[in-house]
Amino acid sequence: MSAGEATVALIFDIFERRGAELYGEHVSQLQHALQCAQLAREQGCADSLVAAALLHDIGRMVEPEGNVDELRGVDARHETVGANVLRRAFPSAVTEPIRLHVAAKRYLCATDASYVARLSEASILSLNVQGGAMLPKEVPVFEQEPFFADAIQLRRFDDWGKRTGCEVASLESYRDLLRSLYAPGR
Ligand code: FE
Repeated sequence: MSAGEATVALIFDIFERRGAELYGEHVSQLQHALQCAQLAREQGCADSLVAAALLHDIGRMVEPEGNVDELRGVDARHETVGANVLRRAFPSAVTEPIRLHVAAKRYLCATDASYVARLSEASILSLNVQGGAMLPKEVPVFEQEPFFADAIQLRRFDDWGKRTGCEVASLESYRDLLRSLYAPGR
């Protein structure tokens, strides 16, 4: 088995062990991941963004307590945990949108009133823990992030990927895509 194959196997193992846990809005972690990745695929996004959509919440599954901290009002910074874990194996086009996807929510809350109106209850709850809407001075700084646009796009998938009873492609269908992105140390 190549190092890339082994890495993908490790990721699949995490989904195997933890994917059934509740994401928090009537969908499991695995369902949520698959829905987000499917949306990215349907929109014709680059493979790196499809992978980011699939893996954006992996930080919740490598931490022993998953979502529990946020429900307790503590920010576990799952976006940083996830990006740090994946950085060893994937390029920044995968890991940066993941690292920024919570900041992207704070950004959209500061800049798009219709976005705030559509946020789910759980997202509003976690927003407060994550620092609330961005301050005006934070907005232009965030827009300078090299992966700003991808982070915003990922955030939209994250918000949409919470439907119940929807048909999605299997995790297995992403194996080759993930393997092809494997690039340690980049
Ligand atoms: Fe998510």
